[in-house]
Amino acid sequence: MKILIIEDEAHIADGLRYNVEAEGHEAEIAPDGESGLELAGTGRFDAVVLDVMLPGIDGFEVARRLRESSNYVPILMLTARGRPEDVLKGFEAGTDDYLPKPFDLEIFLARLNGLLRRREWSRRETTKERLGDTFEINGKTIDFANLELRSDGETIHLTMMEIKLLRYLIEHEGQTVSRSTILEDVWGLQEDTDTRAIDNFIVRLRKYLEDQPNEPQIVRTVRGVGYKFMGTQRPKL
Ligand code: CA
Repeated sequence: MKILIIEDEAHIADGLRYNVEAEGHEAEIAPDGESGLELAGTGRFDAVVLDVMLPGIDGFEVARRLRESSNYVPILMLTARGRPEDVLKGFEAGTDDYLPKPFDLEIFLARLNGLLRRREWSRRETTKERLGDTFEINGKTIDFANLELRSDGETIHLTMMEIKLLRYLIEHEGQTVSRSTILEDVWGLQEDTDTRAIDNFIVRLRKYLEDQPNEPQIVRTVRGVGYKFMGTQRPKL
């Protein structure tokens, strides 16, 4: 597999490359956001390791621009320790997983291999007969394996985090789930995080699913607590 490492600190970048190559992958290093974006845009890579703090455009902007250009290469973001807001900002920008600095190299490789596995699994799913891992709602099909939402010939690509959050809400259909529970179960973040940060994700899910996102019937707000997914129990309008 080919891994792109976008990291300006040379000793970290070299250490990552060494370990990635020891795993049998190929690695290339980009020392800033612009060159990283250009390289990632070639589509040659199976995964991108992306530092947040970069000279020029930062990691969030790199992720955002890649996703805007319909490039869905898996992205593992490297964040500064103790910055949960960075983690959420990164997921909003379309990254798939994160690792707080400083990190253990074994954990880094485990996260990276996890992303690559999910990528392979998703690729295999698209080539063979589509399996039953889908959920139908409001005339739309959520395809968990392919990270897609399909309706009337339109296909929207979802990020792994959007899919994870959707699956979580669906699994808790009809139950009120608090923001802090969602943050902990879906993002793996502790409760001192600013829990309002997930509201942006909910806004996006509503845009995908609801007829009128401003008057949500499916992903409902439970005031002062969190959210409740109403799927098949949805009352007629
Ligand atoms: Ca940096």
